[in-house]
Amino acid sequence: MENKIKTLYILSITAILAFLGMQAYWLYTRYEYSLKDYEDRAETTVANALIEYDRARSRRSSNQSDTLRVMSSFNMNHDMDSLGKTIRKVTVSTKVIRGKDLLNIKEKRKLTSEEMAKLEKIVLDSLEKTEAKRASLDVTSAPSDGAAWSAMKNFELEVQSPFTVVGIDSILKKENIRADISLKETDSVLWKPISTRHSSIIYPRLKITTHYSELEHKAVVVDCPIPVSEILKEMGWTLLLACILSLFLILCLVWQIKTIVKLTRLDKMRNSFITTMIHELKRPITTLKMCVSGMDNDKMMEDSQLRHEVASETRIALDNLAAYFSKLRDITFNNVEQIPLYITSFNLHQLVDEVSKSIALPSNKRATFENHIPEDLEISADRTHLSNIIINLIENAIKYSGQDVTVRINSESTVDGIAIKIADNGNGISIGNQNKIFDRFYRGNASTSEIPGMGLGLAYVKLLVDAHGGEISVESTESIGSTFTIKIPQ
Ligand code: ADP
Repeated sequence: MENKIKTLYILSITAILAFLGMQAYWLYTRYEYSLKDYEDRAETTVANALIEYDRARSRRSSNQSDTLRVMSSFNMNHDMDSLGKTIRKVTVSTKVIRGKDLLNIKEKRKLTSEEMAKLEKIVLDSLEKTEAKRASLDVTSAPSDGAAWSAMKNFELEVQSPFTVVGIDSILKKENIRADISLKETDSVLWKPISTRHSSIIYPRLKITTHYSELEHKAVVVDCPIPVSEILKEMGWTLLLACILSLFLILCLVWQIKTIVKLTRLDKMRNSFITTMIHELKRPITTLKMCVSGMDNDKMMEDSQLRHEVASETRIALDNLAAYFSKLRDITFNNVEQIPLYITSFNLHQLVDEVSKSIALPSNKRATFENHIPEDLEISADRTHLSNIIINLIENAIKYSGQDVTVRINSESTVDGIAIKIADNGNGISIGNQNKIFDRFYRGNASTSEIPGMGLGLAYVKLLVDAHGGEISVESTESIGSTFTIKIPQ
């Protein structure tokens, strides 16, 4: 059984771990997928934003067509190198004349016809003087002639309307993309944008590097942090469902383990209960057997003192048996309402005296009883039950102490009743055990000792106190003693 439970334990824990592992892996791949999807979309948006920005730059130039003159010459040559390989070279030369700057006009407006005439003259005059911006490059590595041509066009665009971080940033912001943008010069020409996808899943970033003027090796780097919250939001229901399912399954498995543990404990309890019960019942039965054999002996019966002793031993053994059985009967009640109460009013001092006298002391113990209860104190309770409560507590005080024990019993009036205190100078109970001693079958260290008991006494006492609507508590210090307090409402 033990081995089976252990195996089940290990299997359940392995199942939980395997399931959690699978769930984590599945969620991870789902997250990766959503992240990739988000990156694809962001990459397309950035690419479109760059195209849009190029268009805006050309638009800006054409809007100034009356004052801006751009004169470019594009040249592409195909040659053969010494190894017979075709090489491609391009040369661009662009001159830009900004009329408004030459006329010193700062505001945005159309030019008057006079200004236009003046401008035409200035343009013609400055055409010779204006220095052209040139670039030439070996573009053999370009994927096509078209790519080489667009590189030349990009150069022209850069001269007439330079690429700025602010410009592209404002377009990206409109598309809800916040990015760190920087311009840089590369060693070689990138004919296609390079995108670096997330390297970390906790702080994912997408980095896109693309040329805006290939011939000058000028590139822009758009580095966008990807908001994880957005990705998680996109996963939404999947994530929630996975979490709920995992939690549900884990709870089921934990519940299963707890039930198994409970059943095992119950099984152990049942076995130890049967063992202790047999052990406990053996004593009065052995005494009874001895007494009956004594009664059968005519010679012994002739001695009146011996006869009295046999009769008293028989009575004690039968009382013990009756007490065990009533304890067992009451303890099996499921709720305190099922315990019948016969409430009467009686003198508590007298009851304690009677009970103390009825206690059979083991031969190796000396006990002193101190009854400090006021002699005239009347209490309303079930007399038999209250005497059982006190007997159990006194018996425990004697059982769990050294050879000499002093049992002090006193009472206090409380707001709603009477508190009876039974104190001893015995072994005491550790703090950790104090809240467990009222559990059925709990015996603490006593279970490994020779001290007789079934671990039912205090559970029985608590049951009877509860039936009266009262309370029981314990204060104890190890090696000094314990005080049990019972409050009986009046
Ligand atoms: P039992 O005496 O049959 O073991 P009880 O329910 O009466 O069962 O007591 C439960 C446990 O509480 C005991 O086994 C013992 O460890 C502890 N206990 C009870 N009364 C005392 C006491 N007066 N002093 C020290 N320990 C006690």
